[in-house]
Amino acid sequence: MTRPLKFVELDETTTARLKDAVVNRSEHAFTFLERLVAEASTVGEESGAQLVVAGELSRLGLSVSRVDVPESIGDDPIAGVPQVSYEGRGDVLATTSSDHLTLLLNGHVDVVPADALGWTNAPWTPVRRDGWLFGRGAGDMKGGIAMATLAIDALREVLPAALTLPLGVLSVIEEECTGNGTLAALRHGVTADYVVVTEPTDLEMLVGGTGIVWVDVTVQGAGGHAEAADRLEHPLDAALRLVPVLEDLGRYVAKEHPEARFRDLSQPYNVNVGLVRAGDWRSSVASVVTLGVRFGHPTKWTSEQAIEEIKSVVVAAISNESGLRVTFSSTGFRAQGYLLDEDSPLIGAVGDAHAATHGSRPGTHVGGSTTDARFYLNQANVPALCYGPVARNIHGVDESVELSSIVKGAQTLAHFIAGLAFANELL
Ligand SMILES: [Zn+2]
Repeated sequence: MTRPLKFVELDETTTARLKDAVVNRSEHAFTFLERLVAEASTVGEESGAQLVVAGELSRLGLSVSRVDVPESIGDDPIAGVPQVSYEGRGDVLATTSSDHLTLLLNGHVDVVPADALGWTNAPWTPVRRDGWLFGRGAGDMKGGIAMATLAIDALREVLPAALTLPLGVLSVIEEECTGNGTLAALRHGVTADYVVVTEPTDLEMLVGGTGIVWVDVTVQGAGGHAEAADRLEHPLDAALRLVPVLEDLGRYVAKEHPEARFRDLSQPYNVNVGLVRAGDWRSSVASVVTLGVRFGHPTKWTSEQAIEEIKSVVVAAISNESGLRVTFSSTGFRAQGYLLDEDSPLIGAVGDAHAATHGSRPGTHVGGSTTDARFYLNQANVPALCYGPVARNIHGVDESVELSSIVKGAQTLAHFIAGLAFANELL
């Protein structure tokens, strides 16, 4: 059940004091962020990063606990397909109160790999340059976690009573591949009246995203010696011919199944071949080729429906290739699309807090990707949106976050939390 949102803007003096406190504590938040970026927390390796987060939340006076992700999470109909065992891996929850939470701040510590060449500095060595902090995960989304802790740090200094508001911070794993970290916490009962996910949103409000499904397409042939390469079936050639076919599928779906709220995106439904695995020897014709495919699909579609679309274009494209076998396997994301009502009081209140702090209202937008906000909206009927710093090159080379936007976002968030506390007569 959604409880009415009670929020009031703070007076000018309190707003200014809070803004100053955020600035005063910002250097501490940046060093915390650097320690967090230095933890190479790719999927399966999140524990070090979670320790850093738990330490900071504990220093801020919150009560910190661990929320396990059960191995059985994969059986949940909403779960993604697990990638690695959950043994020794889990979420970190920090709360100001054992009461039902009014607000939950959600962030993920897992990051995508950084094996690509071309980084100016090593991806796990945080470096500050021209007001930006560089490193894998700096933008997506360790900067958002630092934004959340900075807001709490500032409140602790100038308005500690605001932290009697039942507030939680949930630091999850596996946002980048399944969403099972947030799902496990939700199934465990970790929820709130309202949720803000501090993903990088350029200080706007991200209110919706497409469905996302991952599927591996494997093309197999008999292989053979390279001296006969001109006479053999080539799974690699066939698989590479699938790449533009799959990309076309995204454009076709955008044309045939448009959704009003996603109309402004240049291409809402990208089908991306992000991974190619092939062959084992230069003098052998590759016998097995796997394409790792990600399909951002319309919000109303199920994962099964999206996989069927991929199967039908693939089978049509290589049916003429004699001697090749194609198989499909589901892995990782099976994410439903999501969309928060444009008239949600959460959009109003976060917008008010931003406007009171920075002078103008932030816009709302949707993305051709997913976030963990979907679980709160779809499974728990809890209003959730994303609001976070300005980031560049997320998932790419030289990923970075703008430090001043962490400060600005934390000022908004501190105002928002204090405004909730004030309206709930805690101040
Ligand atoms: Zn993210």
